[in-house]
Amino acid sequence: MITYPWQKELMEKLLRSRETLPHALILKGRSGTGKLDFANRLAQSLLCESPHENGEACDACQACSWFANGLHPDFRSIEPEIDVSDSGRKSNRITIDPIRSLAEFTNMTTHRNGYRIILIHPADAMNLPAANALLKTLEEPPGKTLFILVTARPNQLLPTVMSRCHALAMPFPKPVEGEAWLREKGITNPAPFLAEAGHAPLAALELASEDSSLKNRFLNEIGSSSLDPIAVAEAFQKTELSLVLRWLQKWCHDLASFAFSGKIRYFPDLSDRIRAVSAKTDKIELARFQRKLCDAQRVSGHPVNARLFIEEMILTYRALTESK
Ligand SMILES: [Zn+2]
Repeated sequence: MITYPWQKELMEKLLRSRETLPHALILKGRSGTGKLDFANRLAQSLLCESPHENGEACDACQACSWFANGLHPDFRSIEPEIDVSDSGRKSNRITIDPIRSLAEFTNMTTHRNGYRIILIHPADAMNLPAANALLKTLEEPPGKTLFILVTARPNQLLPTVMSRCHALAMPFPKPVEGEAWLREKGITNPAPFLAEAGHAPLAALELASEDSSLKNRFLNEIGSSSLDPIAVAEAFQKTELSLVLRWLQKWCHDLASFAFSGKIRYFPDLSDRIRAVSAKTDKIELARFQRKLCDAQRVSGHPVNARLFIEEMILTYRALTESK
């Protein structure tokens, strides 16, 4: 595990004050910029028993080896639980049980006489009882304990939880730095991927590694003047639904953004098509449709008839983009 170049300054600053850190940090910032990796690296570095001069973990001591294997006794990571009854799919909520079980963990003396660290990711996934249980712990923080909450949606956290934590806005790279980093990773033409990922480098790397032929086919279809909803539903019914919805969300974002500001964020390579479709689009209906897509994204993990679902979406989309 490494610290990304755009995070180094913040990492070193935190590690310089390792003895006087607040008892709870919130790492907030956009998705795909490496917040979770940073949180893990910070935790490992604080638990490491022979850190480098800059404070980062040595990756060689007993504590680092435990950490790398998920076995460090003074570290807990809390994420939405995996629902074993349903093909291992992750649920999207953090419930009260894992938060409650922290009481036992924080009441024990630490095994290695250093920090005890609890990482919660994504912190906005805590439901209300879980957040209230955490709040109780934060109100009477146990000694030598650090909570690290990671979130891309800090406004979904309880204000009372926010106010008990020290919030840090996570850095992300300038476009040129992001491009240089992606080139180092072997991506020869990083600019369009960075644009599509909203300049989040890890998200761009994921996009670049995906098979883009499916996505291009989909965009080609919905940008076409002879769009056939039934054919699109037929062709993409086996594609992961959240992926199809994400493409459509980004496309609609570009249609709206082009209409209002002339800017295209995700698909600058398709500006001609976006311009043509945007000109025929009912903007109010588009805004309504975008809200519908957000709702749909939230339930896309639930079993639905994908073919009918896509067909209905594309029918609505076609109606609003052929309004003029
Ligand atoms: Zn170490």
